[in-house]
Amino acid sequence: MSDCPSRKSIYYTEREAKEALIRIHVKYQNSSTRAFYTCDQCGYLHLTSSGEMDDALKQAQQAGKINQLSESDHWTRKLS
Ligand SMILES: [Zn+2]
Repeated sequence: MSDCPSRKSIYYTEREAKEALIRIHVKYQNSSTRAFYTCDQCGYLHLTSSGEMDDALKQAQQAGKINQLSESDHWTRKLS
């Protein structure tokens, strides 16, 4: 895995970055992380809390997917 001087987590594809975004919101529903951007220093993607909210995240929120996933996460934890 490559390193970035910014020390942020690196995502190699948009898909990976979007999945990570949604995962973060499932875990921390009031997270301010909202989008991803291409880094000038490493050329890969990082998540950010500034700028426009990513469409995939917006859609997941509107569809109630975040709540659904966090509930199933809750149950998985309870059962294990
Ligand atoms: Zn970087």
